[in-house]
Amino acid sequence: MPQSTSVSPRSPGSVAIIGAGIVGMSAAHFLSRAGWRVTVYDSGVVASGATGSADGAVSVASKKPGPLMTLAVAAVRFYEHLAETGVLVDEFISRSTFMIASQSDELDVLESQSAQLEAAGVPVRLLKGQSLAETVGAAAPSALAAVEVQGEGHAVGYRVVERLRRLGGFTIRRHCRIVGLRQSGGSVSGVVTEQGVEPADAVLLAAGLGSMDFLAGSGLIRPRKGQLIVTDRAGRDTPRFPGPLMSCRYLVSKGSHPAGKLPESRSLGLVVDPLRTGQFLIGGSREDRDDKDTADADTVASLLRDAVALSPSLARLRVIRVFAGVRAATRDGMPIVGRVGGADNVWVATGFEGDGICLGPLMGHLCQQMICGRPADQDISALGADRFGLKLADAA
Ligand SMILES: Cc1cc2nc3c(=O)[nH]c(=O)nc-3n(C[C@H](O)[C@H](O)[C@H](O)COP(=O)(O)OP(=O)(O)OC[C@H]3O[C@@H](n4cnc5c(N)ncnc54)[C@H](O)[C@@H]3O)c2cc1C
Repeated sequence: MPQSTSVSPRSPGSVAIIGAGIVGMSAAHFLSRAGWRVTVYDSGVVASGATGSADGAVSVASKKPGPLMTLAVAAVRFYEHLAETGVLVDEFISRSTFMIASQSDELDVLESQSAQLEAAGVPVRLLKGQSLAETVGAAAPSALAAVEVQGEGHAVGYRVVERLRRLGGFTIRRHCRIVGLRQSGGSVSGVVTEQGVEPADAVLLAAGLGSMDFLAGSGLIRPRKGQLIVTDRAGRDTPRFPGPLMSCRYLVSKGSHPAGKLPESRSLGLVVDPLRTGQFLIGGSREDRDDKDTADADTVASLLRDAVALSPSLARLRVIRVFAGVRAATRDGMPIVGRVGGADNVWVATGFEGDGICLGPLMGHLCQQMICGRPADQDISALGADRFGLKLADAA
């Protein structure tokens, strides 16, 4: 549904995008196609933030019911559109997700999330007994029920970003940290690098956790680390994984579903994701910390224990790698996308926590529409920066 707030068209000029993750790079792609001269700045390299250390679930199944679930439905359709039109051809694969209830107290979560998905127009199928065993041979025989969520997909964040980089049309400045914004009156006239000021007619803050460095207010976005495990390739004797298996506890750990009768643990939630290579990605933890260069044996052991309980055949595989990334989690669990107070030409798109690979390309497109002053294809009023009264930090 188009956004109802009034907008007036803005002529293309120059735009500085801070952050070369999936959100910033998608916005760069669409803004350059709309005639803007785009420069993307990153303090590291392309995809060196959360985008480069994520799983790639393009999934509605795990989303919090409400605006986020509605936007995720649109985001999956948008990936399909980009794949059909060649932009992301071969980078997006369609598949179903299987939410699994292994214990009786998870059945409520399964039923409730499934009803919310159906209400959002997502096709779901309940699997029990024989149909569960036939469809998801890899699930433990003790699994009580599953729901197949159809029409989902997978895309690898750093590959999406690499494709957009190759399509080109914009400039990327690697190892170029933005240390401030040059403000004059009610506008920003450029970005401040360590070498000096570079002029810009518009600025998009797509710097993940780093976006808050430019905004007044503290504690709005917190780092949330996730550890992920990569296995070796499965042998021929590994039972069928028709798609990723998602434990119902994952929905609770992600905050998409209230704990209800389940224990209030937000730390671990499990998805076993079969990759195109024949390997599996197992994850992930949700820890309120930001040390992305470390993994710890306790967390990895817990994830592996849960994974083998969900799908016993995984016990035969070797672990070949463990890595971690850091998500940007907002106080209310919703991303922040919109114009920033205190300047008429600065926008922000951040706080995507565990949903940015799914939402990134659509958000880049919506940022282009906002910056061009065109009505947005989707209603993103629930994500507005104004809900926190977000304003630019005072110029240094
Ligand atoms: C373990 C894990 C698993 C995940 N799994 C999924 C999943 O299955 N599905 C899904 O949809 N999402 C998933 N996510 C979430 C997803 O990865 C993020 O939401 C998404 O990548 C955020 O993209 P972004 O462009 O907003 O930020 P980022 O990718 O973090 O990019 C921000 C960029 O800004 C740069 N930057 C910061 N400050 C500055 C500055 N001052 N100057 C210049 N550059 C700056 C950084 O270097 C970085 O490259 C997962 C995340 C993690 C950690």
